[in-house]
Amino acid sequence: MNIQPEYPLENTFGLTSRAQWGGAIEQLTDVAAAQDFAEKNNLSMTCLGAGSNVILQPKVAGLVCSMRIEGINVVEESSESVLVEVGAGVVWHELVMESLSRGWFGLENLALIPGSVGAAPVQNIGAYGVEVAQLIVGVNIVDGLRESRQIAQKDCQFAYRSSVFKAQPDWTIVSVVFRLSKLPVIENSYPELQRVLQGLPVAEPSPQEVADCVIALRRGKLPDPAEFANVGSFFKNPIVTIEVARAMQALGFKAFVHGQGYKLSAAQLIDRGGWKGVRQGDVGCWSQQPLVIVNFGGAQCADILSFAKDVAHSVFEQYQVQLELEPSLLS
Ligand SMILES: Cc1cc2nc3c(=O)[nH]c(=O)nc-3n(C[C@H](O)[C@H](O)[C@H](O)COP(=O)(O)OP(=O)(O)OC[C@H]3O[C@@H](n4cnc5c(N)ncnc54)[C@H](O)[C@@H]3O)c2cc1C
Repeated sequence: MNIQPEYPLENTFGLTSRAQWGGAIEQLTDVAAAQDFAEKNNLSMTCLGAGSNVILQPKVAGLVCSMRIEGINVVEESSESVLVEVGAGVVWHELVMESLSRGWFGLENLALIPGSVGAAPVQNIGAYGVEVAQLIVGVNIVDGLRESRQIAQKDCQFAYRSSVFKAQPDWTIVSVVFRLSKLPVIENSYPELQRVLQGLPVAEPSPQEVADCVIALRRGKLPDPAEFANVGSFFKNPIVTIEVARAMQALGFKAFVHGQGYKLSAAQLIDRGGWKGVRQGDVGCWSQQPLVIVNFGGAQCADILSFAKDVAHSVFEQYQVQLELEPSLLS
């Protein structure tokens, strides 16, 4: 493994950032090499995939490794399902497309989410009525004591945009094991997707058609990071008590049952708060989806954080609801 100083960090927010030390992990043995280097030089060690869910300071301390372990391997197969182990460096959307072409179903609602397979369990990626936790059997990691083990699904503490991995930064995820169905199971409970699927000239949409609709919906409202740098949703949807949810509903806000509480729409709060399409210099809220903060060119980390603070402060002043960052901040 080639570990170098001043390592440039890939990210979709258009931020110029260098790690004190960095290199790419391409195989399992690189994890041990990286851990040796970090220990010898008394450095923290962090893993990144595509950098599509991080806000990077210009300088990031410690050793930052780009996860590049490839491979999609069938572990077990029956007539109904397949157990498949996928390298953490595989591009998420490529896994979704590959599984559809092999007749493995379940991931289609998560099409076009940027990033790597290894990062998917970290924040339990979700979209259009599906969370990745529903498809995961286990996550293979190397922990800070260099022990390789599998964290079973039940121990991953999956929750809305959260998991045990968020609290264990010294764990390196090397692969993820999924159980995918060989029988099409269509998840169309998400109203926006349901509406589009109902408009198709077929009685029963196929998983490929679901993926196509999801891709079209996403392209219609989310900025392509290659054109308008962003990290997707900038804030989590706030989870609130029933009392707060009722008060917000009385003001015309949507509130969805979520576990013991209620989930509000952060996008609606930002929109009603007057921030949709608002731009300050090179930073702004996307006009079709205000939950996405866009770097229109030269914005740096400090500009983005300052804009986000203004948005969150304004929403709190108006509605007394606190917005929480979805991406991780690396410094
Ligand atoms: C346009 C756009 C749309 C998006 N839409 C969605 C969406 O619909 N739903 C959704 O949930 N998210 C969405 N996201 C967020 C993002 O795509 C996901 O969070 C994705 O899983 C991040 O993958 P990544 O490889 O880029 O992770 P990174 O940004 O590189 O890392 C994210 C976090 O995971 C950790 N991490 C990454 N890889 C590993 C590893 N191998 N081992 C240990 N820790 C690791 C990092 O340290 C960091 O804390 C969107 C982002 C963009 C830009």
